[in-house]
Amino acid sequence: MPKKLTFFTNAVKLPLVKTDIHPKYYQDCKISCACGYSYISGSTLPEIKVEVCSNCHPFYTGKEKFVDTEGRVERYQRKVEVARKAKEEIKAKVEKKQEKAQISSNVKSLKDLLREVQR
Ligand SMILES: [Zn+2]
Repeated sequence: MPKKLTFFTNAVKLPLVKTDIHPKYYQDCKISCACGYSYISGSTLPEIKVEVCSNCHPFYTGKEKFVDTEGRVERYQRKVEVARKAKEEIKAKVEKKQEKAQISSNVKSLKDLLREVQR
């Protein structure tokens, strides 16, 4: 004879959930992006402002764009530009030096001139 199964419902009484500890939940929180796009979502804040969203982030748009708010990219680009200019200056100086050296090596001594004349 199979053993008879018995179910006990509400056998364990759960402790009461604490009240008034949760923040207010807004079902219609407006999330507005700097690009002008806005979304409606649930949040404990009535309104959220963001600088980048899935409408304008390069990962989603596939277009190359710098996402930068503190001017770090500009600062980096400035540094790169300064470094490039310095490199060009050094290169120009070296070329000038080489040119001078070549000119001085082209100047023939009296001994060389005499040798050429004798030939
Ligand atoms: Zn956006």
